[in-house]
Amino acid sequence: MRLIVSFAQGFVSILKGMAITFLNLVGRRKITLQYPYQRPNVSPRWRGIFYLPYNDEAGRINCVGCTLCAQACPTGVITMTKMGAGKHASVNAFTMDLGRCMFCNLCIEACPFDAIHMSTRFELASVDRGVSLLTIDKLAQGGADAVERTKRTIEAALEQEAAAKAAAAAAKAQAAAGAQAAEGADA
Ligand code: SF4
Ligand code: SF4
Repeated sequence: MRLIVSFAQGFVSILKGMAITFLNLVGRRKITLQYPYQRPNVSPRWRGIFYLPYNDEAGRINCVGCTLCAQACPTGVITMTKMGAGKHASVNAFTMDLGRCMFCNLCIEACPFDAIHMSTRFELASVDRGVSLLTIDKLAQGGADAVERTKRTIEAALEQEAAAKAAAAAAKAQAAAGAQAAEGADA
């Protein structure tokens, strides 16, 4: 009798399994994608490959080379070379070695200038390690052209600042000379 019950239970379980298989075959929406011919729509909050957004209004990328992102990174992914100074600071080199990246988001949270973002791009697999080494022209939104425009904007701003400082110093010297001349005339 026990043998018959076991056999019946096994048979019912097979039927249940087959019913689920049949349901998936005909009744349910297919979720498997034929990648890479079909591509997934990932969430906008996806932690994908990084980029440095280009600010059209300011004519430059937002990064000021403060290194806060590099300091926040636990695995030493980010290196950079600063250019300019003060409010006209930026970077002429910014490199990320994504082979070491955990996509933990700490660098993005550390940035006070909204200068580094993660995109929805996710394909990094390669047989070449160099592919995961992203230089500034690959990171900047707009590529090498955006880097060049940033450089020109910073250089122009620095020149303008230096000219304004020189003009202010000349005006001050002229005023001092005028005051000295007036003192001489009074004596
Ligand atoms: S996501 Fe994390 S590991 Fe990757 S660069 Fe940013 S801080 Fe470093
Ligand atoms: S990305 Fe942000 S935190 Fe990193 S150096 Fe640039 S401004 Fe500083």
